[in-house]
Amino acid sequence: MRMLAIAGTRPEAVKLAPVVAALAREPQVKPLLCLTGQHRDLIAGPLSFFGLAPDFDLDLMEPGQPIGRLLGRAIAAIDEVLVKARPDRVIVQGDTTTALAAATAAFHRSIPVAHVEAGLRTYAARAPFPEEMNRRAIALMADLHFAPTPLAKAQLAAERLNGRVFVTGNSGIDALFMVRDRLAADPALRAEAEAALAIPPGRRLVLVTAHRRESLGAPFLAICEAVAALAKRDDVEIVWPLHPNPALTAAAGEALRRAPNVRLVAPLDLAAFVHAMTRADLILTDSGGVQEEAAALGRPVLVLRDTTERPEGIAAGLATLVGTDPERIATAATQLLDAPAAPRPADIYGDGGAARRIVDGLMGRDVAAFAPAPAGREPLRTIG
Ligand code: UDP
Repeated sequence: MRMLAIAGTRPEAVKLAPVVAALAREPQVKPLLCLTGQHRDLIAGPLSFFGLAPDFDLDLMEPGQPIGRLLGRAIAAIDEVLVKARPDRVIVQGDTTTALAAATAAFHRSIPVAHVEAGLRTYAARAPFPEEMNRRAIALMADLHFAPTPLAKAQLAAERLNGRVFVTGNSGIDALFMVRDRLAADPALRAEAEAALAIPPGRRLVLVTAHRRESLGAPFLAICEAVAALAKRDDVEIVWPLHPNPALTAAAGEALRRAPNVRLVAPLDLAAFVHAMTRADLILTDSGGVQEEAAALGRPVLVLRDTTERPEGIAAGLATLVGTDPERIATAATQLLDAPAAPRPADIYGDGGAARRIVDGLMGRDVAAFAPAPAGREPLRTIG
């Protein structure tokens, strides 16, 4: 069986890597990997971390390319790959333009589509944009839906889709645990990650990421304002790995140039970022994957969005939805920093067994459903 996984962005690489690795252990499967180049710079790190190399590498990005043009070119280019690779099945992950293009190209060639991380919803058509539309459209084309949580499965059930739905946990948590184990086993890697952070003694680490398209403009400036307010505390060091988007980099640089304890840095490689999350006293983010990983690590998170497709963390009290209002962000951050709690890791998004369950589903075997466990696991330790 030829199974073609298609990825474009950093989170797709992180979350598909454990699945492709598990497929490679199936004697009757030939796993193939195609990249669209949607996040060409950000994807190289995670791919090499997991020892993956693409079989097809489409270089589809153009400066300032509108999403519709990328989608059209990606469908056409992936269609050519389908003709060459002759896969029996295509695997897509999440809700990116790449995932929508790959599902569409496969659907039109009548090649079955498996959707990893199926069933996430905000029910707001434009938040996140265009991801909410992408994932709903992919669900119509897939025949195997790998829902990370019981909530995601229930949401799919309400849509009366075709095919089978499995609850697997999120394969991003498999990847997180692999990185955690590598950090634990490799003191030099850990030391390098710690040196990259360079947190002055006595300071607490606040880790920030923000890149959602719908936050560009005023909401992003409001996030910068909140970070500037938080930086007035002399007991924090704020590290903000910025997506390489010139508009974001320039806006953050301008807004935060007077804050010496705010460090705007290039995206961290996966091991360094996992190390930073593990050791962070507080995480501010609009990223989906970071919300999941922070819950697994038991680190407190403020979600810089008005809606989230990951309400499980909010319900479990591990994350707080604060939107982008500077005062609200700063107040919530102050509360969490002033009353630090012990790490409360929770297997609400996954337990590290998602890839095994996904491969069982792909192979037509029985799948033992993932059952979330809200709290109680020992904190993950990566710092020696
Ligand atoms: N990540 C990383 N370096 C960074 C920031 C994030 O390796 O500087 C990882 C993070 O651990 C997670 C993934 O990138 O696995 C999340 O990607 P992103 O926030 O771009 O996407 P989203 O999850 O919002 O779709």
